[in-house]
Order: sequence, then C-alpha cells, then structure tokens
Amino acid sequence: MSFSVESFKSQFPLFSQSENRELVYLDNAATTQKPACVIDAIADFYRHSNANTHRSSHRLARRATDMVEQVRELAAAFLGATCAKEVVFTRGATEGLNLLAYSLCSQLQPGDQVLLTTAEHHANLVPWQMMAKRYQLQLCYVPDERGVPQIDRLYEVLTPRTRIVSLTAGSNALGFRTDLHAVRAALAEKNIHWIVDGAQLAAHEHIDVQSIGCDFLVCSAHKFYGPTGVGLLYGRESRLREIPPWQGGGEMISDVDLYSCHYAELPHKFEAGTSSLAAIAGLGACLQFLDQQDRGGMARHEQQLLHFLHDRLSQIPEIDLLSAANNNLGIVAFTHPRCAAIDLMQWLDGRDIAVRVGHHCAQPLVRASGHSATLRASLAAYNTRADAEKFVAAVAEFIVHLG
Ligand code: PLP
Repeated sequence: MSFSVESFKSQFPLFSQSENRELVYLDNAATTQKPACVIDAIADFYRHSNANTHRSSHRLARRATDMVEQVRELAAAFLGATCAKEVVFTRGATEGLNLLAYSLCSQLQPGDQVLLTTAEHHANLVPWQMMAKRYQLQLCYVPDERGVPQIDRLYEVLTPRTRIVSLTAGSNALGFRTDLHAVRAALAEKNIHWIVDGAQLAAHEHIDVQSIGCDFLVCSAHKFYGPTGVGLLYGRESRLREIPPWQGGGEMISDVDLYSCHYAELPHKFEAGTSSLAAIAGLGACLQFLDQQDRGGMARHEQQLLHFLHDRLSQIPEIDLLSAANNNLGIVAFTHPRCAAIDLMQWLDGRDIAVRVGHHCAQPLVRASGHSATLRASLAAYNTRADAEKFVAAVAEFIVHLG
C-alpha cells in the first residue's frame, strides 16, 4: 500500500463535479468531503435495507440490526476498544461530551473539580459550565501560555478534589497536539475520569485508546471522511458500567413499568431512541475505506503540505502565523495587521478557495492569542501541492493589493 494523492482524491465525487473542479477545499477541520463508498452506503441503506433496529424481528429489521452491530465491531477495532460494548453511537463529538458531562457530573459532590484546558472547543467547555452550575462544581484549567496549555504542568493543578480531566487531543484552532503520554503519566494511579476529545485527531492519526490510556474518547465521523449525524463515544467497560444513562427512551431499557425501569445492557443503555441508521451504514463504509488506505502515507503527505504552507506563508511580510509547523494536526492559522480575516476569506472564496475565519468555536484560546478572529486553512489527505500553491499565491496577491 502506498499513498497517491491523485488516486485518493479521485474517490471523492464532490471534486469531479464541474462546479468544483477548481475548488481548493481547506476547511477540513470543520468537516471533510466524503468518498463515493460512504455516499453509496447511505443510499443503499435507504434503497435496500431501511427498517428500524431491535424493535421488531422481520427480515429488514434484523438486517438493519446486524448492520449496526457490525459497524460497532468495526468502530471498536478503529478505536482500539477491547470489545464492541465499549462503543456508543452518538450524533457526534458534541453529543458524546454532553453525555459524559451530564452523566459523570451527576455523581459528583459540590466543590468537586473538573479540569479542562484553555484550548478546548466550546463543545468541551459549555457542557461542563452547565453542569458546574447545576452541581456547584469547580472548573479548573491547566496552566497556559497565551492560551496554549502547558501539559507538563498539569500535575500542578491536580488536587484531591479533581474528579474529571477532559481535554482535546489537538486544537481545532491552532492545530497543536496534546502530549497525551504526559497526561497519562500525570493521572496514573489516580481515580480520575479522563476524557479525550478526539474530534480533530481521528482523520490524521491511528487512534488506540489502550495506548492512550484514557477512560473515554469522543469523535465525529464527519471529520474523518464519514457522514454527519454520527459519532463515537469510547468508554472503558468498567467506567461505562458505573455511570448512569443520559437520555431515557426506547432501546435503552430492558423492562419498564409505570414508576421504574431496568436499563439495557451496555452499550444500549446510552442509546435512547432511534439512532442515525443510514449514517451508521455510511460510517461502516468509511471505516472499511480507511482500513484500506495507507494511513501513514496520508499523514506524511499532509505534514509535507503543512510544512510547505508554514514555510511560504512565513515569507509573506507582516503575516502573523499563530500555528506552528511541528507537532500540528494539519492546521495553519494566521492574521495580518492590515486586513480583517473576513476580507481575506472573501477574496479567497472569490478564487474558489474555501477557508474559515473566526474564533473556530475556541474563543478563549483565540482571545488569549491576542485576536478575535483568525484565518484557518485545514488540511485533509486529498489536498494537493497545487492546492497549497494556489492558496499561498492568492494570500500573497491579496496582501500586495493592500498596498
Ligand atoms: N471538539 C473539537 C476539537 C472540534 O474541532 C469539534 C468540531 O469542530 C468538536 C469537538 C465538535 O464536533 P461536532 O460539531 O462534530 O460535534
């Protein structure tokens, strides 16, 4: 298996549509494009297999149920879980984090502490803020430098009241990775629930929850070439057993009377109601697709482009590059003192180059870097050297126009 960007890109139908032939898509941290096999699996589900799972036992319902459980097995292998019971289907990373915040915090005492970082996506801040208010918990933060967490100082803020540590594996705003080995070392032998937000990691790196050593990890399929509407929550089996369900409803119970119920076995106790079945079918195709790719080659290709972009952008006068080329999951972020990021984004959009501006749902980090908005270009394995060159040339041209 060796990686060829041309053959990888050819599997993504969006790029072969006439209106998208010239498109340079650099908004992959927001969502990636989908390969044909994912799109086909979703259509096939509706064409040939559509039925609700579990509830009934007719042929189509059994087929849909088998499909969901097979995808769960694939997902367990994708994450390195010890068994499929450790994998819960969610709507995405946001739902996974809300589930964990709701469920874990309901077991805490007033004054207990939840430790986060200043670099978190709002999905890993706001649910904890909501639960902190409800249960009188204290939110604490890893020491940081201009918003970038100093993970080697994490142990300084651990206290006997720290019950939960929830942090991202990589920043969606600036791209830097978190040293998860250092987190593991700091939390070793402590009875702390450790959650990893893997939303930005999954597209770029093989995930292995055993070697990470976390208790929980969340991710969203749409950020690693899969469909929207489905995500994965890994939970160590012993931890999942200890914590209460989040939502109530059908499928998550084994028995109900008017005043009480018994919850279903793992992982179903966390999956109330009808799941996004077609999206799960698409996720299954996505996981098989990824399994057939040279993931090391994909990562090396992205890193080459990332270094190229940092190198070229750093040569453009006055650009303030906020991201670093090393230890980065594929994100370039910068500002320019003489132009608003939104104006540059619109200029690029006019040249069919898709990037994102703003705080990227990581407002505390972007603010701490001294800005209210940055321009972010984020890579996927189908981006080509020509994409990177076109982007840099368009940025340079805009800045020349500023005079
Ligand atoms: N966490 C991180 C680091 C993210 O980048 C994102 C989305 O950008 C999320 C969580 C939320 O993901 P979703 O909107 O798919 O639930």
